[in-house]
Amino acid sequence: MFKSINPATGETIATHAPLSAAEIEAKVAAAHAGYARWRTSAYAERTALLSRIGDAFEANKSALAEMAVREMGKTLKSAVAEVEKCVSGFRYYAEHGPALLSDTEVQTASGSTTARWLPMGPVLAVMPWNFPYWQVVRFMAPAIMAGNVGLLKHASLTQGCAALIEDIVRQAGAPDGVFQNLAIPSDAVGGLIADDRIVAVTLTGSEGAGMKVAEAAGRALKKVVLELGGSDPFIVMPSADVAKAAKVAVTARTQNAGQSCICAKRFIVHADVHDDFLARFSDGMQAVKIDDPMTDGTDMGPLSSVEQRDTVVSQIAEAEGEGARLLFGGEAIDRAGAWMTPGVLVDVPPEGAFAKQEIFGPIAMVFRVPDIDAAIALANDVPFGLGSSVWTTEAAEQERFAREIEAGMTAVNAMLASVPEAPFGGVKRSGHGRELGPWGLHEFMNLKAVMR
Ligand code: NAP
Repeated sequence: MFKSINPATGETIATHAPLSAAEIEAKVAAAHAGYARWRTSAYAERTALLSRIGDAFEANKSALAEMAVREMGKTLKSAVAEVEKCVSGFRYYAEHGPALLSDTEVQTASGSTTARWLPMGPVLAVMPWNFPYWQVVRFMAPAIMAGNVGLLKHASLTQGCAALIEDIVRQAGAPDGVFQNLAIPSDAVGGLIADDRIVAVTLTGSEGAGMKVAEAAGRALKKVVLELGGSDPFIVMPSADVAKAAKVAVTARTQNAGQSCICAKRFIVHADVHDDFLARFSDGMQAVKIDDPMTDGTDMGPLSSVEQRDTVVSQIAEAEGEGARLLFGGEAIDRAGAWMTPGVLVDVPPEGAFAKQEIFGPIAMVFRVPDIDAAIALANDVPFGLGSSVWTTEAAEQERFAREIEAGMTAVNAMLASVPEAPFGGVKRSGHGRELGPWGLHEFMNLKAVMR
């Protein structure tokens, strides 16, 4: 049984039975049959369905948000914002989908060729608990627009969210087989990837899960998109508005209790403004209001599980073992559930093993650098390459960061956030492929050359 445990209280709030082998088979068969019909559906039918699902998410905002709070501990305010973002994701593809799928005519020596976007088939999505709706919508909305159908294997922690999504999509009138939730453990994923009726797989999660899924996809020669971990740099240069950067830095590190792949995790600060930034940032981190995630005014609730909290606390001990200093915080709070305080680490040896890890919790590493060359070198000195945020008003520095930081995304004088219109994804061990915008729509499509 999957157990939903409220990380704010430690109480088991629900159990969910995993599907039997026969139930999994029935759902895969339904996806196969559903695709046979949906692949030739008119664009207008697809956009109408996306609009109805967006409306249904909006109508069910409170139920969706409260389920996420109870299952993984994010604040109600952020859960509501997540559902609203999902609505904008559905509406983006409903509004722009047909134009993004228009044909391209290419003149060739022998005549003309039409490049045409066609669907591929049922796509399996393996998704994490940290944004239990938005991660799913990033895959589901373009899949529906493309004429594909989707099967979701959601995280064990958020099976209630997964079941709600399936219900809402069905209530919105999705035809049979267009979107289904598979309540299955992760060891059932490999068998599904090998199934001939599933054509591709997308995973958002850890490096370990990424390697397993990529291996299974490789054996079956299937397309795979991987959105994996990150250790995003947040670079502050002397020309920056340091007060604003420090304020945003607190949110960038503690949003979702530090459990976002694109949370800023390493704060790389020019020596000229280092002490000022560190003082302001430390004040902000210590002022983060930790309380019941359902309560208004709470900045940070618990982490998603006691295991996740304990992992973060043990990572701090590892950092200290390598010579880092914990300035404050980083302690488990003595109450039922998965609570801890935000903390700041300094003197982390950049060459040590700890500096190369992702910390999936509210703990920041702050580094001092003498110049932009050192900032870029340190930013790139990790196996990851997901996002980054750079703070400078000098155009030449902005250009160097844009070109030289090894990451899929760089935000300038702002906190990095995903938006429906822009590409989202990473390089290096943060994965490959892109979600959102036209790029996410095209990832799982057959670009056919029709030659006349
Ligand atoms: P996780 O353990 O990798 O879980 C993610 C999903 O993969 C879950 O559905 C999980 O199922 C499944 N899974 C785990 N091991 C698997 C395996 N061997 N084979 C197939 N599926 C497997 O990740 P997490 O700890 O929940 O999430 C945190 C990680 O995700 C962080 O590294 C974070 O940076 C990354 N992330 C990346 C992005 C991005 O867009 N790049 C976004 C969010 C999070 P079970 O729950 O049943 O184990």
